[in-house]
Amino acid sequence: MKIYNTLTRKIEEFIPNEEGKVKFYTCGPTVYHYQHIGNMRNYIGHDILDKTLRYLGYDVYRVMNITDVGHLTSDSDSGDDKMVKSAKAQNKTVMDIAKFYTDQFMNDFKLLNNKVPEVVAPATDYIDDYIKIIQKILDNGYAYIEGGNVYFDTSKLDDYYKLTNHKEDEMVVGIREGVEYDKNKHNQADFVLWFTKSKFEDQELKWESPWGYGYPGWHIECTGINIHYCGEYLDIHGGGVDNIFPHHTNEIAQSEAYLGHKWCNYWFHNEHLMDESGKMSKSKGAILTVSLLKEKGYNPLSFRYMCLSSHYRKQLVFNYESLDNASLSYEKLLNKIKNIKENKKGIVNEENIKPFKNKFKEALENDLNTSLAITTLYDVLKSNLNNNEKLYLIEDFDKVLSLDLLKESSITEELKKYIEEKIEERNKAKKEKNYELADKIREELLEKNIIIKDTREGTKYEVK
Ligand code: AMP
Ligand code: ZN
Repeated sequence: MKIYNTLTRKIEEFIPNEEGKVKFYTCGPTVYHYQHIGNMRNYIGHDILDKTLRYLGYDVYRVMNITDVGHLTSDSDSGDDKMVKSAKAQNKTVMDIAKFYTDQFMNDFKLLNNKVPEVVAPATDYIDDYIKIIQKILDNGYAYIEGGNVYFDTSKLDDYYKLTNHKEDEMVVGIREGVEYDKNKHNQADFVLWFTKSKFEDQELKWESPWGYGYPGWHIECTGINIHYCGEYLDIHGGGVDNIFPHHTNEIAQSEAYLGHKWCNYWFHNEHLMDESGKMSKSKGAILTVSLLKEKGYNPLSFRYMCLSSHYRKQLVFNYESLDNASLSYEKLLNKIKNIKENKKGIVNEENIKPFKNKFKEALENDLNTSLAITTLYDVLKSNLNNNEKLYLIEDFDKVLSLDLLKESSITEELKKYIEEKIEERNKAKKEKNYELADKIREELLEKNIIIKDTREGTKYEVK
């Protein structure tokens, strides 16, 4: 298996620390707001890597955190503590907010057929781990206490910037957005490991520590949870490209300062989902979620199909036109498979299916080329394999693609309701001899690839 490694900036052969086993960590959501479909693209990318590794026979152990405490890195971080701000605005406690958005996230996560990792860990459960790690970093001489907070000292590292293209001089205050002057820091790149004093005095969640009553910085959460479950050597760590700096850069700094050796071998980063005006983000106002797409009548798996049609390292622009196109292709695909299912015949011959299986496997082994994997699925459908051989391969490929290719009905309840309402409207129009309207409704449905047929038993429909 070959995968792009952000650390080396190369596509590399994947070799786990322990033969046949993979320890894989995904940076999870901050739960002060909904996770938009951009965030969800990132988790689809992670799901494909997880399932590809399993498909190739690896024993995968995957961990994901839930950031439910203070999403801020230092006093100088611009803006507000997002959890506290959200709780105040909704007149709820921080933990109520965290629970609500965690549930929403898990719901959307599953709607996309993402496999839930072996461990999903809320950051507030691991305070003792962070304290233990921070104490050792201080003892090892990589941190200092200033103004009541514990800071990581980046000047102690020769290669603090190894994961990123950032250069230190670009970090000068005022050049990089979000960097403000913090008088406590010895170097501007330093970051907080533990807060006791902060401009966010109204922080609701605080814990006792050797440095006073306070709370952890954001980065230490991922290091703590990671080492708690995966131990000293991690195979793959992933997130979106915006996590490379500062989050993952700081995670490497503090984890290696704590452990005293190299920590994670492969860094996996997914490109963003964009909208017409740039990167999709929570601060842009209205948030488009997977649940919302479903309410609008889209099958969430059409969105998954859309994401898989492009490469995880390429930006993808979202608009309804492309989602409509993806939905159409997806529905057509399911319909083709339905026909195959209704005409099962033939014996599965290993020799016949092998070239397709190999092509599918090779596509994924080549830095997760999901669009080629989908093309291979279409090749199977077009091939002269018998229907049972086709079904065998479809089922096999769906272990990774997770598009419910063999599920009974591809039509969501919402779409079904929509079609039935339209048919009723059309029948009414016909009764009133308004044939113009009746034809218009038929065409409207046809545009969505829904064909209606008037039969003696009433109006029937099928998806083209
Ligand atoms: P957050 O809750 O903001 O920490 O984001 C959760 C995950 O989604 C992180 O790993 C981000 O890197 C990723 N992410 C944020 N915005 C986007 C986007 N527009 N497209 C893809 N991934 C994103
Ligand atoms: Zn993280």
